[in-house]
Amino acid sequence: MKSDIAYLKKYMVKYRNKFFIALAALILEAIGDLIQPTIMSRIIDKGVKNGDLDYVLKMGGLMFLVTGLGAGFAIIRNIVSSTVSQSFAADLREDLYIKIQGFSFDNVDEFQDASLITRLTNDVNQVQNFAHGMMRIFVRAPILGIGAIIMAFILNPRMGLILLALVPIVGIIISINLKVSYPIFTRIQKALDRVNGVIREYLAGIRVVKAFNRFDYERSRFKEVNQGLKDTTLKGMRTIALFNPLVALTVNVGIVLILWIGGIKVNLGDMEVGKVVAFINYMTQLLFALVMVTRILNMYIRAKASSHRIREVFEAENTIMAKKDPVSFKDIKGSLEFENVYFKYPNSRDYALKDINFSLNFGETLGIIGPTGSGKTTLVNLIPRFYDVTKGTIRIDGIDIRDVDLRGLRERIALVPQKTLLFTGTIKENIKWGDASASDEEVKEVARIAQAHDFISSFNEGYDTYLGQGGVNLSGGQKQRVSIARALIKKPSILILDDSTSAVDMITEKKIREGLKEYIRGITTILIAQRITSVMDADRILVMDKGRIVGQGTHEELIES
Ligand code: ADP
Ligand code: MG
Repeated sequence: MKSDIAYLKKYMVKYRNKFFIALAALILEAIGDLIQPTIMSRIIDKGVKNGDLDYVLKMGGLMFLVTGLGAGFAIIRNIVSSTVSQSFAADLREDLYIKIQGFSFDNVDEFQDASLITRLTNDVNQVQNFAHGMMRIFVRAPILGIGAIIMAFILNPRMGLILLALVPIVGIIISINLKVSYPIFTRIQKALDRVNGVIREYLAGIRVVKAFNRFDYERSRFKEVNQGLKDTTLKGMRTIALFNPLVALTVNVGIVLILWIGGIKVNLGDMEVGKVVAFINYMTQLLFALVMVTRILNMYIRAKASSHRIREVFEAENTIMAKKDPVSFKDIKGSLEFENVYFKYPNSRDYALKDINFSLNFGETLGIIGPTGSGKTTLVNLIPRFYDVTKGTIRIDGIDIRDVDLRGLRERIALVPQKTLLFTGTIKENIKWGDASASDEEVKEVARIAQAHDFISSFNEGYDTYLGQGGVNLSGGQKQRVSIARALIKKPSILILDDSTSAVDMITEKKIREGLKEYIRGITTILIAQRITSVMDADRILVMDKGRIVGQGTHEELIES
């Protein structure tokens, strides 16, 4: 339980001072609340009873002052607690975001991206709510509760016992409440993950959904998870709804007892009316305190469930471990060697790559062909260490890539992925992702090689044409060409093109290949293609099937065999 909130320590320290200001304001506010009923009983028993108007006015003025001060402290406390809880939540989100950025593909696969989004938003909100709530009622409720009991004892010890007797009963009710609701809150957050998951998948696949007219299916899927969220949440709320009135009922029984006993005593002349009124007031304050405690504990339980999920993210071990003293990787040439490489995806049983051996001198071009699913993409994803090999070694310039610094390694490699991904922004900005310091001339040059210059120039805004999310306003082939330009501008040591002209017509593809020939002189290049003609000129060609290399050699050698 303790470790679920241990990671929060850092923020507690950071906001400690403000937290104490809120606390101090809270205590003063509670003291004001506590004095009120006693002043009131004085007004009734001394002022009203004796017809002493002066006294009534004096005490009334005091009451007014106490109320005003209380309100002032409440305002201060509200401002401080809102500032603290909002800043704390923003810090927490930022730290989570940084942590997630460092995640390897394995980590993201394990958590699922929808769940990461829920954790970063809603789960953080739950913890923030609790932090805010804590500053509102954390000390106020106990002070009010305990204070009410003490004040009642001072007024009349025998009747004070009634108040005291209520505490253990309410305690039992609250602890049952917490036990029951914790698992429900965990389930609510999971249900929220599922809703987010469906929305994400729908938005990512919106074109396919429309093309296949699968709206009804998608809607029913959404309805199902949405209903699930509603049911789970309702269950949680009902549990709380059941326990709160139980607490109120217990206290109200106490109030009835006091009215009854108090009534008898007033009749006998043992007690003054004002005292009974004050007693009822303290009883109400106790009730208020207990309801607050129940509420804050419910918030706590909910925050704890969320906090556990946040902690899981913080504690996830990045599967691509950065080495302690990595080899710097600035001036590499780019020779590449795979030795007995085996690779298995974390959640599958079979090896996706088996016994891969080949080497490539710097500046050479390697072609890889093979049917879909044969492991081509998997093979090239190992080079920038999107995943690490399961067995065997990959070396660049003779150095095991697990020994070099990850950033440097990725800086020297440019990969044009099979699935093109562009970002919101202009075309120029997208190309400059590869090299932020590139000049407009350089942007044009790589766009020409990638056969993108002509179509970009044909747009009204040219290179400043704004792309929507994922580059929606370009055709598949156009996106691929922008993506190639983005890789080229990086001037990498190793360039990987994963089937990146699949949506480009044959004539344009030929032009790209011819343009590339000049540009990639001195750059080690890996070309994945469907057609053998696309890799004809490569120095070496690998033929892959079912995760193995089934043929290797130059175009001529392969034709011969
Ligand atoms: P290719 O690029 O040659 O079409 P891939 O390298 O994409 O083939 O896939 C090779 C094999 O690995 C396939 O059987 C595929 O199902 C599997 N695979 C690909 N990506 C993953 C993943 N993230 N998790 C598990 N298996 C995967
Ligand atoms: Mg592929």
